[in-house]
Amino acid sequence: MRETVYWLVGPGAKVRHAVEFAPGTFPGGQLLPTVCHRWIKVPFAGRGAAIDAITDRCHDCTDSVRPHQPCEVTWNA
Ligand SMILES: [Zn+2]
Repeated sequence: MRETVYWLVGPGAKVRHAVEFAPGTFPGGQLLPTVCHRWIKVPFAGRGAAIDAITDRCHDCTDSVRPHQPCEVTWNA
């Protein structure tokens, strides 16, 4: 587990997953591995505020991240 995790909403998703790579350094559509061993696409900029307002978090990611107490960043495109 890295020192920082980023919580982001993939395209069409309703929850945030945690990734250990800064999403801002990858182009939109780039696949990144999530902490819960799924894949998530880096969202493209300019999405609606409704998506950015999503606060629900993937339970699998939460369970994996919590014991490590990393710096957590809520990331929006
Ligand atoms: Zn997850």
